Amino acid sequence: MSPVPVRVSRPPDLPPLDVAARLDRLRASLGAAGVPGLLVTHRPNVRYLTGFTGSAGMLLVPTDADAVLVTDGRYAEQATGQVREAGVPAEIEVAATQVDQHRLLAGAAHGLGRLGLEAHAVTWAVQRALSERLAPVEIVPTEGLVEALRRVKDAGEVARIRAACAVADEALAEVLPVLAERPTEAELALALEVAMRRRGASGPSFETIVASGPNGSRPHARPSDRVVGPAELVVIDFGCVVDGYCSDCTRTVSVGDPGDDARRFHRVVLEAQRAGREAVRAGAECAAIDRAARSVIEAAGLGEAFPHSTGHGLGLEVHEAPRLASTSRDTVAAGSVVTVEPGVYLPGTGGVRIEDTVAVTDEGAEPLTASPKDLVL
Ligand code: ZN
Ligand code: ZN
Repeated sequence: MSPVPVRVSRPPDLPPLDVAARLDRLRASLGAAGVPGLLVTHRPNVRYLTGFTGSAGMLLVPTDADAVLVTDGRYAEQATGQVREAGVPAEIEVAATQVDQHRLLAGAAHGLGRLGLEAHAVTWAVQRALSERLAPVEIVPTEGLVEALRRVKDAGEVARIRAACAVADEALAEVLPVLAERPTEAELALALEVAMRRRGASGPSFETIVASGPNGSRPHARPSDRVVGPAELVVIDFGCVVDGYCSDCTRTVSVGDPGDDARRFHRVVLEAQRAGREAVRAGAECAAIDRAARSVIEAAGLGEAFPHSTGHGLGLEVHEAPRLASTSRDTVAAGSVVTVEPGVYLPGTGGVRIEDTVAVTDEGAEPLTASPKDLVL
């Protein structure tokens, strides 16, 4: 058998990202955080602020001086090119070893007095090494400073998420007919990931979930060797990355009628998902969105079968602020992109989850995922 050529289409032309404005927005928030500078180590945050996509780099952002991006020799050329292309005023410093990189950071941080470190993104070991190397600058923990900026997307970011959603929608439409040929869960997941990559995605935005029959009762089931049978619920949760930005979508389908109970579960979740989406608009409380979806499921007597929160923000990462959860005190803002994804899970029986990625506007929620929500194929 001759190898089948795999063609990869280019993603659509995308509008530019407004990277250059972001450093000053971060600087404006440092005063309130009580630090005259921040060392950004979380990679998606480094990318967000500079356009640099390499796997090794730390960005020092003083309030009163140019930012300094420290990386190693593998990325010298790439970092220079990407930062310049993004129009970001940052110096690039290159050093082979971590010790030398810390020395460069110590020079750039000299005189700051205090320096914020992203508490959720450094190991104990790195924090200790930096404390030693940067002394007498005091290292202090900060929480979510760059993430707070990332909550509201610019037009270029929304366009990328929209493109990732469209790629995922097209891939699902291509792959769903394969279900009739009784693939295993793992085979269907692979077909979906290949279909997304062939449309220009750089990869899945998380490990694709295909959970059939009783496997569907676990919200984060991994695809197994189980053959997907007819007339059973199949939860497919999938997404991809286009130019750094994620999509996230879940559909629950069945090849043939899965029976009265399954159809009722699907109807309830569909109604809950619609209620959740309708509660999304700029300024809405995250807890109220969760309540809107959850109350539909509770009214159907299935409240205990819905053990997770209703949704999450997404962008450069598939899980970002805000969380659409009952315990959240957050609100959603115009320009945020969030998921709405209620589900019910019944051990021994299976599960139903329906998820869209939506853009938050002043009027409501604009769906970015558009795959049909029909249960029976
Ligand atoms: Zn999902
Ligand atoms: Zn999700």
